Amino acid sequence: MAHIQRLSPTLSNQIAAGEVIERPASVVKELVENAIDAQASQIDIVVKDAGISYIKVTDNGQGIASEEVEMAFQPHATSKISTNQDLFNVKTLGFRGEALASIAAVAKVSLTTSTDGRRGVLLQVAGGQQLHKQTVAAAQGTSVEVADLFYNTPARLKYIKTVNTELNRIIDIVNRLALAQPQIAFTLVNEQRNLIRTSGNGNLQQTLAGIYSRKAAEQMVALATQTADFKISGLTSLPQQTRASRNYISLLINGRYIVNYRLTQALLAGYGSKLMVGRYPIAVLQIQMDPLLVDVNVHPTKREVRLSKEEQVAALIQQTIADKLGQLNLIQPALNNLPTHTVASQPESLPFLVGAEEGTQIAEPQPFTATKVLIAPEAVNLRPIFKDPQHLQEWDLHVKKFCQHLGDTNPISSSEKPLTAQVSTAPFPELRFLAQIHGSFLLAESDNGFYLVDQHAAQERVNYEKFRQEVGQVSHDQQQLLVPLVLDYPNSDAIVINERLNILQAVGLGISSFGQNSFVVQSHPSWIPTGQEEATIREIIDYVLKDGKISIAKFREQTAITMSCRLSIKANHHLDRTQAQAILDQLAQAKNPYNCPHGRPTLVHFSDQDIKKMFKRIQDPHQSRRVK
Ligand code: ADP
Ligand code: MG
Repeated sequence: MAHIQRLSPTLSNQIAAGEVIERPASVVKELVENAIDAQASQIDIVVKDAGISYIKVTDNGQGIASEEVEMAFQPHATSKISTNQDLFNVKTLGFRGEALASIAAVAKVSLTTSTDGRRGVLLQVAGGQQLHKQTVAAAQGTSVEVADLFYNTPARLKYIKTVNTELNRIIDIVNRLALAQPQIAFTLVNEQRNLIRTSGNGNLQQTLAGIYSRKAAEQMVALATQTADFKISGLTSLPQQTRASRNYISLLINGRYIVNYRLTQALLAGYGSKLMVGRYPIAVLQIQMDPLLVDVNVHPTKREVRLSKEEQVAALIQQTIADKLGQLNLIQPALNNLPTHTVASQPESLPFLVGAEEGTQIAEPQPFTATKVLIAPEAVNLRPIFKDPQHLQEWDLHVKKFCQHLGDTNPISSSEKPLTAQVSTAPFPELRFLAQIHGSFLLAESDNGFYLVDQHAAQERVNYEKFRQEVGQVSHDQQQLLVPLVLDYPNSDAIVINERLNILQAVGLGISSFGQNSFVVQSHPSWIPTGQEEATIREIIDYVLKDGKISIAKFREQTAITMSCRLSIKANHHLDRTQAQAILDQLAQAKNPYNCPHGRPTLVHFSDQDIKKMFKRIQDPHQSRRVK
């Protein structure tokens, strides 16, 4: 074995850099966070080659004193904390003093900074070595240029994905940082193309409109709550506005964008069965708490944090969302769901690829807004994959119109026309049965227009709520089985069932172990329908087997869903007037009449207004505004 020797500072910095700087997006994140910490109100980001060949971040913040510039590049050199106490009370995004040193270890860096907007200093560092320093005239703030990332660590370059993937990662992180700081104006330009532009006027909804789309921003509900320990505010989407991934959920703790599984779960749990299975909301939640309750020093890139009161925050998030959504009328307007035939009639929403992993199919192009996000005609290269060639044509036309549209309007000011909220708190309507269609749908009217009700979904909802309550009851009406049921399972399953017997007992099954691989059920709750005892009991046990870690609450939920599905009428089932009206009346009594337990809508609404629009009796206000 070779002798033990100390690594050279250059080499050890290169090794350390690997933890902080994984890819171009990490450089962008670190530089932008420094700009935010320097109290900038404007941050401009320019990248070339998705940041692989060039990244420049310019801010108008405090700047760095010329005698301290070299220090900024030293490892573990920071102006943000100095004592052990500070480490547990971090109020800035940075504090580890590693970013500039790490970036300069693996790239060519040129930093210009001024604290007074007249004289400044230019410092060039490459591969950890200072190359040049001179006094220059400079604007207030700091500008950092990073060229040839990983030029001296080629192995790192191998981990870089395609230009599109890296660019998407940069867009994604800038989106999050912009959502976290609506009071800062951001621009992001790649190869002369403007990709992101926010106004920095402090309005979160407008910032969100700029990032996701106007339509998205209009279908958000505002949240605000406060306890002695936490303050939560932000926007979360109506349950009918969802995406195929969790990527559109941004959690911010004390202004820092973080990833936290538990809190994301809590947010989703707040929606309960209002979300379609496999769909996720768009949300930006700002959580403020005493920095002492947050340990940000558990992950080199600070993406993950440790919270001392995580369960309390989670419970508060879940409750706040559940309460808020509980107050809303969530009947979906039928017109919103109709396919749009002329894509070009909506110049503001432009799909763009974001958050796509290498090799994965892009399920859903992310809409960008023309009003704040500018994409030049070359953006056509990034057009999404459409199966239908006509869609492709429409898309191209759309992009063209969109670019023309940009030419003659001021993007910032036009986006600031007020966003119309599409949130209603009207009570659930009284539904009068009219007819049954194809044995599957009920047509009903109210004082405003008519409704199509999915009879199966409606019954599932009603049954679900009934069972949810019964399954949840602590004391169950027990039914003794005349002949006890003996169930055999393979060894591996038997172990799981044995461990989870308490959960099965909690929903009212009188089950106990009966020899090595067998179980005996002597009683069951009376809500299990007669004649279906064994099948239902087996199904209930299957849940425990499928998910060994299932909680009692979740388990009860699952059981109620199974029961509701089992007992609900299927499609193609004729109902007489009385039966049909009974379903409508029961639905109106449900706690959440809007979705079946799987999240599918139970009914859609054709308002008088919509009907008149369909027959061209009135102008669509959206269209007419655009014509002007
Ligand atoms: P950290 O952010 O953890 O302190 P960095 O390596 O990112 O470490 O930056 C080192 C120091 O350089 C910072 O503490 C700060 O004082 C200074 N600095 C870096 N970027 C900027 C900037 N854009 N504006 C003002 N000061 C900056
Ligand atoms: Mg930093």
